[in-house]
Amino acid sequence: MRRAAFTVDVDRDVNVPVPGRREAMSQPRNGDGSPRFSSSARGLVLLVELLNELSIRGTFFLEAETARHIAGTVDLRRLLREHEIASHGLSHEDLTGASTGLPFTGSEATDAVDLAADEIHRLTGRVPKGFRAPYQHVDDTIHRLLSDRGYLYDSSMTDDIRDRCIGPRPLPCGLTEFPLARGIDARGKHIHSYFWPMHEGKRRPADYIHLLDQFDDGLMVLATHSWHVVETYAGRLDDDQVAMKLGEIRAVLDGARDRGITFTTLEEDVRRGAEDGRGATGTV
Ligand SMILES: [Zn+2]
Repeated sequence: MRRAAFTVDVDRDVNVPVPGRREAMSQPRNGDGSPRFSSSARGLVLLVELLNELSIRGTFFLEAETARHIAGTVDLRRLLREHEIASHGLSHEDLTGASTGLPFTGSEATDAVDLAADEIHRLTGRVPKGFRAPYQHVDDTIHRLLSDRGYLYDSSMTDDIRDRCIGPRPLPCGLTEFPLARGIDARGKHIHSYFWPMHEGKRRPADYIHLLDQFDDGLMVLATHSWHVVETYAGRLDDDQVAMKLGEIRAVLDGARDRGITFTTLEEDVRRGAEDGRGATGTV
């Protein structure tokens, strides 16, 4: 059966890693790169409204510090009550140090993951069972840590679509991995199931609908940032541009449904897979 999940990384506006810093900064505006959260807050509300209108339950990977800022103006429990809540780290830290040059030790990574879960629980009343690493920077050590802490799945990796199949798949540590997908566009170039290039004006909804036509079995993870429907790397968008960004996402989600693809949340898919004996392989 063809399944899809719409996932949203709720993180600081236009986040950028900075060498030598643990926490992420925001793309500088007027020379100031301090973390900002207002576009993420507005985009989150708009994306939830869109999903509610379409009766699609989303998976929201909350970066804990961003969630705390958003909770100052938005009732997260109420807003996200119909949707899955998962973790996107504490302060958008680069756990492997691939971008910052500051890899976390095992205990530092454990602290970051646990503090994030505690804060998300405090803000939403729910304990996250899924994780997406900031920048998708993950390794076996992080996967084992998540498994030890009671997580059910990770969704940080990227897999090529092979033999018209895409994840989930089991990891040796016991987690289920829901990889993002990489396929080929109509011109033969690689395309990822993260909407980043569409929001930056480099791809169209038709490119992602073409990607959705490339699998017959499994679950395709579609992904975006909460802030990215409100602000791009170039700057903040006006209301017409925001409406266009939301319309593009709607076009992809409608296109998926037109193809008979069923939307689910990742946690629900793990639990259903365990119940029907399919495990994490995608096949019964
Ligand atoms: Zn992120």
